[in-house]
Amino acid sequence: MSDCLFCKIITGEIPSKKIYEDEDVFAFYDIAPQAPIHFLVVPKTHIAHVMDLKENQVELMGKMLFCAQNIAKDLGLENSGARFVFNCKESAGQTVWHIHLHVLGGRDFEWPPG
Ligand code: AMP
Ligand code: ZN
Repeated sequence: MSDCLFCKIITGEIPSKKIYEDEDVFAFYDIAPQAPIHFLVVPKTHIAHVMDLKENQVELMGKMLFCAQNIAKDLGLENSGARFVFNCKESAGQTVWHIHLHVLGGRDFEWPPG
């Protein structure tokens, strides 16, 4: 999608601190980290948010989560754990409308979130 920030990051039109890329997914560090480790995993195909998911994207979402798990382990979060988050639409505070999985780690988190 031509005016989407994360689509532009995926193509390299906008620079990012890339962690991982394959034919389906792209992972990069969040520009405003909310924890010592904070990265995002996005699908290369433009999907606006969780409410837009289609049945034929189930496997892609699983791949995103598995990719997030692998990176979290590579970054040393396997034992401590991490928070895996999808913000969906206005009430959840979604600001970039290209579906993304936040992974935050390296500190303790409150539950429920604010
Ligand atoms: P959300 O509020 O769930 O839509 O999350 C969007 C996230 O994208 C926020 O955590 C932002 O800090 C992050 N973000 C915005 N612009 C960039 C960028 N250019 N590179 C990396 N992360 C970004
Ligand atoms: Zn997009």
